[in-house]
Amino acid sequence: MIETHAHLYFDRFDADRDQVIQRAFDAGVRKIINIGIDIDTSLACIELAERHTGLFATVGIHPNDSMKLDDKSLAQLRELSRHEKVVAIGEIGLDFHWDTCPVDVQKQAFHQQIRLAKDVGLPIVIHNREAGPEILELLDSAGTDGLSGVFHCFSENAEIAEQALQLGFHISFTGNLTFKKSMLPEVAAAIPTERLLLETDCPFLSPEPKRGKRNEPAHVVHIARKIAEIKGIELATLVATTSANAEALFRLHEKAFA
Ligand SMILES: [Zn+2]
Repeated sequence: MIETHAHLYFDRFDADRDQVIQRAFDAGVRKIINIGIDIDTSLACIELAERHTGLFATVGIHPNDSMKLDDKSLAQLRELSRHEKVVAIGEIGLDFHWDTCPVDVQKQAFHQQIRLAKDVGLPIVIHNREAGPEILELLDSAGTDGLSGVFHCFSENAEIAEQALQLGFHISFTGNLTFKKSMLPEVAAAIPTERLLLETDCPFLSPEPKRGKRNEPAHVVHIARKIAEIKGIELATLVATTSANAEALFRLHEKAFA
């Protein structure tokens, strides 16, 4: 399995970070992508990736931190994006749930980081909280030619998923897919397996049967099982397909021995 969305630099992993990483590899996770949310955490992702084979990094400024994006930090991101283990710009996007940053500031930061991704030829990792239509509109106006990426922690309806797929994007679900009463299994059922990725978004959103506990990359297997069940396919098939998807989208082969 390839865990495409972790935040292992958080202090909730300070006490046992190396064991958490080892536990993931023991559980069948072969590669982990750590996701930056600002300059400091992007640097932390790169440091972790330098220390561990199988770990990769993204660099970007989260919508809730959009105020942190200025000419200086944008230039820093551009510099960091050239690192050999950086595989995407993210997580970037729009968040209308937490009222931490004005919408126009978020939109500008998202737009600037999309342009950066296109310039440096990296895919994007999209954070979307209650902002699906606005994100699609912004992607459309920025132009999706030569742009790829993933709608991470997908929690929207089937129409938004369909439009994301039409723009050429991948989709991934977190533990929220496994929660009782979730409507997301219906949405997932309609998404071609060739466009799905696996992720945990740890330490958040631990899947059933680990719900309520700290999430970690090893738990991605519960999400993989759930998707295989929804799709009515073998777990091994689902794992092989989603791993190939992640390898291709983030070009991990090219960076494997970096
Ligand atoms: Zn995240």
